[in-house]
Amino acid sequence: MISKSATEVLTEIASEIRECKKCRLWKTRKNPVPGEGNPEAKIVFIGEAPGYHEDVQGRPFVGAAGQLLTKMIESVLEIPRPQVYITNVVKCRPPNNREPTEEEIKSCSSYLVRQIEAIRPDIMVCLGRHSAKLILSRAGINFRSILSVRQKVFEVEFGNKKTKVLVTIHPAAALYKPPWRRFLEDDFRLLKSILIKEGEKSRGTTPTLDQFV
Ligand code: SF4
Repeated sequence: MISKSATEVLTEIASEIRECKKCRLWKTRKNPVPGEGNPEAKIVFIGEAPGYHEDVQGRPFVGAAGQLLTKMIESVLEIPRPQVYITNVVKCRPPNNREPTEEEIKSCSSYLVRQIEAIRPDIMVCLGRHSAKLILSRAGINFRSILSVRQKVFEVEFGNKKTKVLVTIHPAAALYKPPWRRFLEDDFRLLKSILIKEGEKSRGTTPTLDQFV
């Protein structure tokens, strides 16, 4: 049997999400937001849930927080945004941008797991508490404060592949609390240093980000 490509699997998952009524969020969404980016991305960013602009456009991270995320990806990592994959734990907007409930996360999380298993990234970056909680729970890791799991490299298995996991604050938190922006910047710098080390490992001694773009 010929196995499907990551592009085919992601397209199938996006179609299922467009029809999904597994939790009540389908009733209030304008557009579901499956995710976007390179199906063969080495890095996957996982946020919490779509907000107003994402709901209108059906695309992840396109509002103010999205602009900050894009800036971090392109200026700190020096990688064009379309070369990574960006998605959320919950694919439909919770009304008034409230936090997703445990039940909504439980209903929606299988889509994210399947997306990760299709992409098979080398590194995942959890943006915020809900994303970190869901991903780290697969490795039996619990935490109280998002700040306690920053600046660490975890390993979590998805589809028989061990993937490095980094946790940072949600970009919206950096906008809401400007002093927290340095956390986001420091965490992206850590991510960049890991990418450079991985580049050195696979290519000999030359520090390069080439294989991540
Ligand atoms: S949030 Fe997820 S589970 Fe709920 S309706 Fe949307 S796609 Fe389905």
